[in-house]
Amino acid sequence: YGDASQKIDYVFKVVLIGDSAVGKSQILARFARNEFSLDSKATIGVEFQTRTLVIQHKSVKAQIWDTAGQERYRAVTSAYYRGAVGAMLVYDITKRQTFDHIPRWLEELRAHADRNIVIILIGNKTDLEDQRAVPTEDAKEFAQKEGLFFLETSALEATNVEDAFSTVLIEIFNIVN
Ligand code: GDP
Ligand code: MG
Repeated sequence: YGDASQKIDYVFKVVLIGDSAVGKSQILARFARNEFSLDSKATIGVEFQTRTLVIQHKSVKAQIWDTAGQERYRAVTSAYYRGAVGAMLVYDITKRQTFDHIPRWLEELRAHADRNIVIILIGNKTDLEDQRAVPTEDAKEFAQKEGLFFLETSALEATNVEDAFSTVLIEIFNIVN
């Protein structure tokens, strides 16, 4: 698992979903450009960002799609999910409501996406531990019950962001190989 710049063996489309302001765009900025912004404006126009990695000597282009402020329930169109082989379902560990909405997002994802899609549940903003409203154990239990991978991240501190993407991409890679 590393960086590459030669020919592309695979392109994997991965979608980011979850409520507004949970940190989806900053997680993507951290992964794609190693950047973070505390006053990120709502995403406009940019459909996806890419980063090419090497997994088991093959170059894999990860094409990560970010919602352009369409986070309201049922506002994300089926085109967004089309062809996705991975999904990152993000909530904010300091906002209970964003975790309570996860079953809806999962339902929507399962209605639109391929049935073999690899899904990871992500609890973001672990740098705000003193404001935590969602116990790790609750999310772990939910993920286990639904058969999802699970990690807590901080886009701000760059904690587990790389791991979250590599978990999804390596699992997809193993499925197609
Ligand atoms: P999105 O609507 O889900 O795309 O959320 P954004 O990525 O735009 O982030 C919403 C707000 O949360 C912004 O002010 C970000 O700077 C902030 N944010 C995102 N990730 C983190 C994080 O890991 N820690 C902290 N403290 N703030 C974050
Ligand atoms: Mg955004």
